[in-house]
This record gives sequence, C-alpha cells and structure tokens, in this order.
Amino acid sequence: MSAFQHTINRKSTRQVQVGEVIIGGQAPISVQSMTNTPTTDIEATVKLVNRLAAAGCDLVRISVPDKESVDAFAKIRSQTPVPLIADIHFDYRLAVAVASYADKLRINPGNIGGKDRVREVILACQDRGIPIRVGVNGGSLPKDLYKQYGLTPESLVKAALRHIELFDELGFDNLVLSIKTSEVPLMVESCRQLSAKADFPQHLGVTEAGIGIQGASRSAVGIGLLLAEGIGDTIRVSLTGDKLQEVQVAYEILDTLGLRRSGIRWISCPTCARATVDVEKVVLEAIEKTRDVQTPMTVAVMGCAVNGPGEAREADLGIACGAGSGLLFRHGEVVKKISESHMVDELVAEILRYIDRQDLSNRKKSP
Ligand code: SF4
Repeated sequence: MSAFQHTINRKSTRQVQVGEVIIGGQAPISVQSMTNTPTTDIEATVKLVNRLAAAGCDLVRISVPDKESVDAFAKIRSQTPVPLIADIHFDYRLAVAVASYADKLRINPGNIGGKDRVREVILACQDRGIPIRVGVNGGSLPKDLYKQYGLTPESLVKAALRHIELFDELGFDNLVLSIKTSEVPLMVESCRQLSAKADFPQHLGVTEAGIGIQGASRSAVGIGLLLAEGIGDTIRVSLTGDKLQEVQVAYEILDTLGLRRSGIRWISCPTCARATVDVEKVVLEAIEKTRDVQTPMTVAVMGCAVNGPGEAREADLGIACGAGSGLLFRHGEVVKKISESHMVDELVAEILRYIDRQDLSNRKKSP
C-alpha cells in the first residue's frame, strides 16, 4: 500500500437507529438497496432481501403500494433479520399500518396529505421508536416552490426545510433527509446546501440513474463528490436491473474514497500491445471465484514488466505477467513463478491463504 493517507472529515450529524444499524454521527456509511419483486410475492422478496444482505447491503427498502403489501411486509419481516424500510406514497393509512413492522419509513410528506395525516404517521413511528426518511425528489416539488424558483437547489432545499419545520412543529426529530434528482450537479449542490442548513443524517442517491455503466458512473460522481466533502451517512445506488449491482457499486464508491472496505480491491492494467497474457480473462475468472470474500485486501494483475512489478509490489497480492507466465507477489516479495494456465487457480489459492493468515493474526490480537 502507498504511504499516502487520504482523510475525509465527515460532517457529524445526529444519529438514528434502523434495526441494529446506526445512521449518522461517525457511524460507518451504510449501504441500502431496494427490492424490485412484487411485495406480495413474499418468497421472492425474502430471497432477494437475504441475497442483498449477503452481498453487504445493510438496509433494504420495500415498496408498500397497497393493503395487501402491508400484510406481505409483516410476513417478510418475520422471515428475515435484515433491517427493513417501508416505502409509502400517497396513502398515509398504509404508512400507519406498516409502521408496526418496519424499522424505518420513507415518505414524501408532500404527497401524504395535510398536517393531520403526517401527524398520524408520526404517532405510529413514535410508538415504535422508528425513524422516518423525508425524501424530496425533483419530480415531486411543491407547486408554489416550483413556480417561484423552478427546479433549483433553492426550491429543493426549501422543500426539505419546510418538511423539517412541519416535523419540528409536530414534535418529531427522528429523521433522515434526502434530496434526489436525476440531474447530478443539481443533486450535488442541493445536498451540499441542505447539509449546511440541517444536521440530520443524509441519505444520498442519484435517482433514476439509469442502467449499467451509465447508472454506475452517474451515481459514483454524484454520491462520490458529496462523500468526498464529508457529506452523507447512508447511500443507495439506483440502477435499472440486477439489485446486487447496486450494492457492488455502492461498495466500490466507498472503497475508492477509503470510507468503507469489503472484499477485494482489484487493480488491473488496461492491457496494451505489450501484454502477453489474457489479463481480462484472468481477472474475470478470479473475481468470479472470490465473490464471497469479505476480507479487505488489494490484488493486482498486471500485463507486463513495465508497470507490473511496481503495482504488484504495492498490493497485498499481485501478479506481474511475462511471456505466458507471471510472478506472484505477496507484500512485495516474489512467491513463485506461475504459468498462464495455472494463474487463476494459483492466485485464488494465494488469496485464500492470505485470508487464513489474516484470521489467525486477528485471533492472536483479540484477548
Ligand atoms: Fe501495457 Fe504492461 Fe501497462 Fe499493462 S502494465 S497497460 S501490458 S504497459
């Protein structure tokens, strides 16, 4: 590892508790995702919740669009230990009903109805001591603010502050805030301004970020810019498609900024005419075989002798490829020379040995 240490000074926000997970203060930045199975398909939803949790997702949000979904939510709750957030729009009665089972609610007070209805939701959450995320979205700004300011940081922040005032008036401060838009610079500036005006924990996300590389890149820029400034306490990457990708991208963002690590950080060269080994194949196969690894480590696979030995030396483990073979490094020391045909198996075996050594040293350190 390089001697350079980059430190992000995180803004100290208030703390809320969602199941066993703390959001805010200096608690680790939690990763969220959301199910896309029909909530009434209990079996499929529980399966997805558990798969997300196994991939490192701390909190899972589930839509509750109708009464049947409230009943299903209760059954899902009883079948998984993962903290669950109920997402409700429009009908405050659903929010009141599902509060008995949820670890947190996500509502937009602007579409839940008047003050009396919000009060009902608050009372239900106070009974159980669960927090509410107040989410302001670019697509659902109050009409008067939109008319006066258009879709701008000013209108979005004013909408959030208006909600905070309402909750304050109703005596509830167990809140998480979010402002999301699909336009990244607008989302970034709005969250930045909100952070300067309120000390509630912030949930960050680029809403409707898109699919695959596009969604991942836009999320990384939006969420990453704010995290780098110390803003943000929990994140959700919103991608069209496989929900597990949301968790993977979220961890890549956190790992890149040194905020939270899980599993292997892969360093691999882009290859060029000097590459003598199929680096892409080696890395993809090795990633596939080590998907379940949670121990933080850095593994480098480099295509030739130009930068290969240097990068491989800096990593915990590394391979610097030569003609049809490679040198396997562990903490800068050459362990052995391996042929291309055995490269993946040898690397995976070395990764497993590394984990064993880490486990042993952790056991020795613990009293
Ligand atoms: Fe090319 Fe070698 Fe650099 Fe890879 S490490 S990009 S093969 S020069």
